[in-house]
Amino acid sequence: MEAYKRYSDYRRDLEQGNTTVTATVQSFVERAKTYIHLNAFLEIWEEEAIERANQIDKKIKAGTAGKLAGMVIALKDNICYAGHSVSASSKILQGFESLYSATVTDRLLAEDAILIGRTNCDEFAMGASNENSAFGPVLNADDTERVPGGSSGGSAVAVQAQLCHAALGSDTGGSIRQPASFTGTVGYKPTYGMISRHGLLAYASSFDQIGPITNSVEDTALLCEVLAGPDEFDATLIQKPAPNFSLKHVGKKKIAYLKEGIDGEGIHPEISAGMKKTISELQAQGHTVEEVSFPYLDYLVPCYYVLTTAEASSNLSRYQGLLYGYRSKNAVDLETTFKKSRSEGFGPEVKRRIMLGTFVLSEGYYDAYYTKGQKVRRFITEKTEEILSQYDFILLPTTPTPAFRLGEKANNPIAMYLADIFTVQANITGMPAISVPAASRIEGMSWGIQLIAARSNDVELLSFAHLLQTGKATHEA
Ligand code: GLN
Repeated sequence: MEAYKRYSDYRRDLEQGNTTVTATVQSFVERAKTYIHLNAFLEIWEEEAIERANQIDKKIKAGTAGKLAGMVIALKDNICYAGHSVSASSKILQGFESLYSATVTDRLLAEDAILIGRTNCDEFAMGASNENSAFGPVLNADDTERVPGGSSGGSAVAVQAQLCHAALGSDTGGSIRQPASFTGTVGYKPTYGMISRHGLLAYASSFDQIGPITNSVEDTALLCEVLAGPDEFDATLIQKPAPNFSLKHVGKKKIAYLKEGIDGEGIHPEISAGMKKTISELQAQGHTVEEVSFPYLDYLVPCYYVLTTAEASSNLSRYQGLLYGYRSKNAVDLETTFKKSRSEGFGPEVKRRIMLGTFVLSEGYYDAYYTKGQKVRRFITEKTEEILSQYDFILLPTTPTPAFRLGEKANNPIAMYLADIFTVQANITGMPAISVPAASRIEGMSWGIQLIAARSNDVELLSFAHLLQTGKATHEA
């Protein structure tokens, strides 16, 4: 099967009769079976995907097919699809089936996409390596001794290993962009409020966003056309209609970078060199690229972990062994149902975060931690807004290193948390950000270049990212 990097090429072949959706789905399913050792999928919906493919082939012939006809998409295991299991890769949701579909799921189906399966992730999207799944780690397809990143590691690897055309992930602190960086895919976190979270299992609600992982910025933009915009089931969204996501012509831009993002401690020397090369290339193309100072770099990760764990401790209180999922067999009354189901059902990282979050919210400490965290969030946001009022984008590496080895950071939560240093800023501030693969590889592994834009400048961001990925400044108007 030809590996399409853009949906538009595949669509053209479908319409010209050079391929069919059914054949495409069948070959993805076969391939997914061959690559089962990567552990990217927790479940493949083979039969229904093929049945749907047949129907969509008919629609294509009849000229009535939707915008995403035949696009084969994987869903992260924290996005609901009615009648299908969803578990956030946690034992606590064992046996649970979604009662309704997430808005993103419905919107994909309404445009005739094919949902091929649900992908493994870090438990409740907490992690940066996919080693926190109750169903085992996901392996990086470029080197199976390395992690794919997390928490949307299964979604990233499904795209990387060509087991689907695109996947949805969720990004609370980098969970779409960081695995995209480690797998050579495109990962985009939209502006906070751009894409509905109705039907997303919440981790930290003032940070969480759903977004796509794809092979090209063009496919990212196409998916956003379908996914973005108000939803009567999610009142937290921007209430204005979504922008037109067609990529625009890119003129000369002003771009800021941080010294620490290029030469900082802990940055792999080849990422440092690659970033410098990117900066000179952009300058040679006539863009203004300048260093700016951002004094809060050391506060990003602590701020993120204080606030997200506080929100998680509240969001995850609904999993108590009563309403859905796992219930301990050793429970004898209400209290032991709560305690034992939670103790047995949650994994160690989730427990660590629930306890940390409860601590930072507890009487006697919330002023020192939670309230302080909120103030720091405000400082970070104001400084980022100030930079983005003078510049179009902030340019950073997505991660300080390429994919690390399995087990390398698994027993050191602080080292793992520091892997998020460049991704959490966009979530703390609600800004859109994208990771595109750099041209070079390090020890055979991909790494990502990240751009952050001001809130609601998503289309400008994607248009420039397209330029960065392809070197082509113009696109269809
Ligand atoms: N790696 C970060 C964490 O562990 C990001 C997670 C995410 O974005 N869901 O929380």
